[in-house]
Amino acid sequence: MSSTGRLRLAPLVLLALLCAHAAHAQWLREEREAMGTLIAVELWTEDAAAGKAAIQNVFAEFDRLDAMMNPWNPASELSRINREAARGPVATTAEIVEVVARAAHYSQLSGGAFDISFASVGRHYDYRAGDRPGAEQRAAGQASINYRAIALDEKAGTIAFELPGLQVDLGGIAKGYAVDRGIDILMAAGIEAAVVSAGGDSRILGDRGDRPRTVGIRHPRKDGEFAVLIPLSDTAISTSGDYERFFIEDGVRYHHILDPKTGDSARAVQSVSILAPHAIDSDALSTAVFVLGVRDGLALVNRLPGIDAIIIDGAGKLHYSQELLRSAE
Ligand code: ADP
Ligand code: MG
Repeated sequence: MSSTGRLRLAPLVLLALLCAHAAHAQWLREEREAMGTLIAVELWTEDAAAGKAAIQNVFAEFDRLDAMMNPWNPASELSRINREAARGPVATTAEIVEVVARAAHYSQLSGGAFDISFASVGRHYDYRAGDRPGAEQRAAGQASINYRAIALDEKAGTIAFELPGLQVDLGGIAKGYAVDRGIDILMAAGIEAAVVSAGGDSRILGDRGDRPRTVGIRHPRKDGEFAVLIPLSDTAISTSGDYERFFIEDGVRYHHILDPKTGDSARAVQSVSILAPHAIDSDALSTAVFVLGVRDGLALVNRLPGIDAIIIDGAGKLHYSQELLRSAE
């Protein structure tokens, strides 16, 4: 056989090898309810059994964190804190300390727009039943919202409440934290391309093979439609919208993002999406910027390096942070 003949065979052998390889590698996707929302894990793997096991490990992590941080479950660690922390420092888990510390960071940055003690009044709302606090109850609850009264001792691992009636809820940050832990689990398992999402909080590891993944931002007023499509890889994206949990009474929309200054739903914008390296940050910031509105929200995002925002205002108009505008030019 001539040497050219052998050379001609080589690409065929290579193609066969590639096909055999491709037959094993695949995208796996599974969904499940946890933390009161839909959790989805999607990953690229050459070993289906190992990939499926990794997905189950992520789900188990969501269950573990839900059992710790769910304020509606009386058996959770967070409920114990809400019961006991007004009496003095409560020793708690390193994870709650970490999440509460990050929440405090965003409370400071946002001038109190993000405040986990929103729950002091937030716990009187039931969006499914269409219940909200009366004026008196709202004023009383609102007086107990103050992140500065949450005394966290990171070294000692304790938390205390220095204001009567203060209650906390990590609903604006815990899903982001859990998404990051999910990605950590997948990375430790050797996964290089994946998406973990929990409701409006997602983190993308790697890309969709040779191209970025296209992520849609829901249209806040048209069910099943997207307002924007953006190509993304290796980033977290969180969206806070007034259409997630709400009821309408006398033409007024009552929804699950509260302005700590009023104890009422924040109504300046319809939707905020934040891009950040980690989901804990995109989650907290999407809620914070939702409360701040377009002007103050964009001002905050524009002074944070590596963070971007897409805001849909009260009239449905889109606003982008500086870095996104620059990258689109
Ligand atoms: P979701 O993915 O649940 O829609 P968001 O990121 O939009 O979450 O945040 C909304 C949740 O944040 C609410 O359900 C509530 O638990 C919590 N929250 C509401 N208002 C505030 C606030 N001002 N500061 C911090 N957390 C808040
Ligand atoms: Mg959020």
